[in-house]
Amino acid sequence: MKAHTGVDASVGRTDVGDASQGDKMETFACTRLGLDCDFTVSGATREEVMTAAMEHGMSAHADLMAGMTPEQAAEFATKLGEAIQAA
Ligand SMILES: [Zn+2]
Repeated sequence: MKAHTGVDASVGRTDVGDASQGDKMETFACTRLGLDCDFTVSGATREEVMTAAMEHGMSAHADLMAGMTPEQAAEFATKLGEAIQAA
């Protein structure tokens, strides 16, 4: 599997007139999970950021993910979700 460098989750959409998403960005940083990693991602929706963060985790933190029990992985996903914050 190829490791992604530069997750492109922040593709600038400038749809004027769509007020449903406003101009808020959701952001995630690995440091919010206590990881010694400078990865950050931002996107228009939580889903977008979550997807990018999971992809990053699967490649950059494969060892960490592989060592988790399904229970720990679920807990990790919850923490990840909580770590996504609107900026
Ligand atoms: Zn990371």
